[in-house]
Amino acid sequence: MIGGYDAPVISNPQIILTMKFKLIDLPYAKDALEPVMSEETVSLHHGKHLNGYVNTLNKLIEGTAFEDKCLKSIVKEAEGKMYNQAGQILNHNLFFLQLRPKDEAKKAPTGKLLEAIEKEWGSFEDFKQKFQEEAAGLFGSGWAFLVADKDGKLSIDKGSNAYNPITEGLCPLMTADVWEHAYYVDYRNVRADYLKALWEIIDWKTIEEWYAEPEQAVKCACKASKAE
Ligand code: MN
Repeated sequence: MIGGYDAPVISNPQIILTMKFKLIDLPYAKDALEPVMSEETVSLHHGKHLNGYVNTLNKLIEGTAFEDKCLKSIVKEAEGKMYNQAGQILNHNLFFLQLRPKDEAKKAPTGKLLEAIEKEWGSFEDFKQKFQEEAAGLFGSGWAFLVADKDGKLSIDKGSNAYNPITEGLCPLMTADVWEHAYYVDYRNVRADYLKALWEIIDWKTIEEWYAEPEQAVKCACKASKAE
């Protein structure tokens, strides 16, 4: 006893739990994406679905070789349930970071990104059409992406469940979540209407910044979930 005060004894300091990953802070208010995406959808999608993936991943990595790895490494190296949670976090962070309220979002790319899009698809409108077709045609739950390879060449990539292009050595730049939870409240079963409306809130200023150094997008998405 020191000065009449019993200092607490921590018998095993290692018991103190650390949360490795955190839920991303959205760069806008939950109702700011209306009418394209309702407050209810954003609240459920961010606060329930994404939060669930973060909590589950934090539990899964405890005491494993992945405990001290970054999100990107877990997506690249883990398998099964752990890959699914980490892939979903990375994809959702990208998804939420690329969105802005309708009146703020830059609706179309310019400069180098526009040139690269025109090179592959002829025009931005043709790209949007092709992207919508690919995303609408993905069977079941998954993700569609605009990606760049190491030389900056663009393509559309997609995959089921928690698929992320970094597993194929590609850099995701823009993405559409086509899990039903992304659109069911606002668009019911009509995925095509959701995809068409999504262009109103995708911010091409953010995507241009990412395209300037294509690995930026994943870096930003990983950083957004770092708890430290
Ligand atoms: Mn989702």
